[in-house]
Amino acid sequence: MSRFWSPVVAGLSPYVPGEQPKLRNLIKLNTNENPYGPSPKVLDAIRAACDDSLRLYPDPGADLLRQAIGKRYAVEPAQVFVGNGSDEVLALAFQALLNQSEPLRYPDITYSFYPVYCGLYGIRHQTVALTEDFRIDPADYLPTAGKGAGPIILPNPNAPTGRPLALDDIERIVAANPDVVVVVDEAYIDFGGESAVSLIARYDNLLVVQTLSKSRSLAGLRVGYAMGSKALIDGLDRVKNSFNSYPIDRLAAAGALAAIEDEAYFQQTCAAVVRTRDALTANLHALGFEVLPSAANFVFARHPARDAAQMAAALREEGIIVRHFRHARIDQFLRISVGTDAECDSLVHALKGIFA
Ligand code: PMP
Repeated sequence: MSRFWSPVVAGLSPYVPGEQPKLRNLIKLNTNENPYGPSPKVLDAIRAACDDSLRLYPDPGADLLRQAIGKRYAVEPAQVFVGNGSDEVLALAFQALLNQSEPLRYPDITYSFYPVYCGLYGIRHQTVALTEDFRIDPADYLPTAGKGAGPIILPNPNAPTGRPLALDDIERIVAANPDVVVVVDEAYIDFGGESAVSLIARYDNLLVVQTLSKSRSLAGLRVGYAMGSKALIDGLDRVKNSFNSYPIDRLAAAGALAAIEDEAYFQQTCAAVVRTRDALTANLHALGFEVLPSAANFVFARHPARDAAQMAAALREEGIIVRHFRHARIDQFLRISVGTDAECDSLVHALKGIFA
């Protein structure tokens, strides 16, 4: 606490990112990065962009990238917004679209950045409890008769549970709330979920947010994007241009463009992650874990006889980091990112040793 801090800063509870260890030989299954490197075409594009043109500002609208995203997802470039990681896109959406008179709604167990943005922007909010089996029930997001309903943000698949919501369920929520924005945070959609992007043409209140950090192996490049009606994108642009006109630097724009265009590499690495996830799930079941059905690049698992914090600490001793959240309802779960087959085998081997 410092007397120089503004009252807002003094009141913040900032997000705590998963550890990025300085030791190189750890097996890192804690922050849902992709275990495979980005497409070789991305690296070539970034190298090719490394020249004297770096003295110039980048294109503030990242037009080439927005066109490529528009083409890939069958939306107009004017329906695409790009930002410095989807965290930035989300932050701008909270400020531009989710700060309304009725409280913002999101699940009680979800991406822990949402309450942080609410704190930063002073957004009133209310949490909606997941079901006993950690599902989002769409019926909980329908407006109650006679009461104004606030905007909504949900990850699909949800984090950290990994459980997906079917497209029909998303549509029910979006259709029932036409006067408020519904943001679907699809950070993990490419590992088995159904994107809501196809609904954008019919619902002007839907904003779909995606990232290159997970399925395109580019967490280090910091590029995320949103797709939605032009009115929503214009709202995001107004905030962006009141904050930082150039969120995508020249190297990021070049690498991101190549990533979006290399569909074959994307499909291949996603399929590999999904195969490994399914094998890891089977191996965890065999060790007695309950594993929530995941459509993401991580699994959320608990053991009926083992304390999660102790397991996380014991794994760390073995050089393997996983994520444990000390939050109500989920403090007996471990969130394990899907690594390579070899990394997941090491995890299972280490757990067997710990249980022996
Ligand atoms: N949404 C969810 C649900 C996430 O888990 C993450 C990753 N922490 C993000 C958004 C942000 O990812 P990025 O800023 O790397 O695009």
